[in-house]
Amino acid sequence: MKVFKFGGASVKDAGSVKNIVKVLESQGCEDIFMVISAMGKTTNALEEVVRLYFERLDYGLKLDEIQQNHQNIVQELFQHPESIQAKIHQLFDELKGFLTRNQSPNYDFVYDQVVCLGEMLSTKIVSDFLNEMGMQNTWLDVRAYIKTDATYREGKVDWSKTTELFQQLSLGKFYVTQGFLGADDHFFTTTLGREGSDYTAAIIANCLNAESMTIWKDVPGVLNADPRYFDETILLEKISYAEAIELAYYGASVIHPKTMQPLRQKQIPFYVKSFLAPEAVGTTVENGGSLFPKVPCFIVKKEQHLLTLTTTDFTFITEDKISALFKELSKLKIKVNLMQSSAITLSLCLEDKYEQLPVFMEGQGDKYTMDWEKNVSLYTLRHFDADLAQHFQRGEELLRQIIKNTLQIIVRE
Ligand code: ASP
Ligand code: MG
Repeated sequence: MKVFKFGGASVKDAGSVKNIVKVLESQGCEDIFMVISAMGKTTNALEEVVRLYFERLDYGLKLDEIQQNHQNIVQELFQHPESIQAKIHQLFDELKGFLTRNQSPNYDFVYDQVVCLGEMLSTKIVSDFLNEMGMQNTWLDVRAYIKTDATYREGKVDWSKTTELFQQLSLGKFYVTQGFLGADDHFFTTTLGREGSDYTAAIIANCLNAESMTIWKDVPGVLNADPRYFDETILLEKISYAEAIELAYYGASVIHPKTMQPLRQKQIPFYVKSFLAPEAVGTTVENGGSLFPKVPCFIVKKEQHLLTLTTTDFTFITEDKISALFKELSKLKIKVNLMQSSAITLSLCLEDKYEQLPVFMEGQGDKYTMDWEKNVSLYTLRHFDADLAQHFQRGEELLRQIIKNTLQIIVRE
C-alpha cells in the first residue's frame, strides 16, 4: 500500500482537482491511501470565521463566501453536481447548527470543530469526482481512526489505539481521507497543528506499514533553499531521514517537522514530487548519506523575536534559572529556536505563534531586564564552508552561532 498526500495547492480549484486524475493515471490507483488537505486557503478563511465568532461579529458572510467558492468548483467539475452540492450544503448546515448551539468558551475547542470543515469539503469533492472519473474509491472519515488526546489545535496521537483501528481496515483498496484531523475520546474533532496533513499521511503510512509515502507538491521536490527568498535553488535528490529531520527542524517549509519520525521508525521511503510533473525524479528521503548532491542548504524563519534577558541583580545565568525560564516558555507554547548565554545575559530567538510573549515578559520582569527585538529573521546554513560563512550577507546581523556543520544568523531586515 502506498500513501499519497495532496496539499491545499494541489486542490485549490477545479483545474487542480482534474490534474489529480493525471497524477493517478501515471501512478495507478490500486492500493492507495490518499490524504487531502483543505482546498487552497480554506483553513485560513475558517480561522477567520472562528475569530469573528468569538468577537461576536457577523461570521455568516465569511461562511457564505467559503461555501460559494466550493460550489463554484463543483459546478465546474461535475456534469450533475446536485448530489455533491447537497453534501456540501449539509456540512455547512451542521457547522452553522454547532455555532448556534455552542456554549463552550474554549477557543481552541471551537477552532477545531470549525476548521475541520475544510478537509471534509475537499475530500467529499475529490472522492466523488474521482468516482465519477471511474477511479473507484472509498471515502473515509479519518476521525474514526486517528485518536488523539483533547489538546485542541495540537492533538497528541494515541498511537496504540490509532494503529489498532487502522489495522481493522481491509486493504488493497483505494481510500480517500482527510489530513490534519483526528478525534478525542468523546469524538470531538481535534487538529494536529497547521500544515498537519503531511503528518497525517505519515501516521497512516506507519500504522499500515506502507510501501512508501509521496507528497505531491507545486515544487519539484525538496530544494536546498526556499525559492521565495533565494534566487538560485538546487533540487536535493536524496536526503537521509536524519538530514530531513534537521532541515524540517530549522524550518524548511516543504517538510513538516513531525512527519519524519513515523516514517523513519518503520523505514518507509518518502518521496516529495511535483504534481505538475509526476514522472520527474523529485526527492527521495530514506536511509543513506546525508544528502545528494552535497550542497549547502539555506533555511529562513521569519517573524522571530530576539529576547535578551539580563539578571537585574547581576547574578550568573545558572542552570536553575534557565530551567525556570524554559518551563514558563513551554507552558505558554513559545518556541525557542536558538539560545546563547553569557555570564549574566541569555539571548533567545523565539517563535510566538499564540502571542504570549508579553505574558512571559510580565512574569519575569522583576528578575531580568529585557531587550525585545521584534520581527527578526533566523537564517540557518547547513553544510556551509568558510567562504560562504564569510560572505553570506543579509540585513543587519544581530547574532551568529556555529554548531558543527550548521551556521545560524539572526538578522534585522
Ligand atoms: N488545511 C490545513 C492547513 O492549512 C492542513 C494542511 O494543509 O496540511 O493548515
Ligand atoms: Mg493547507
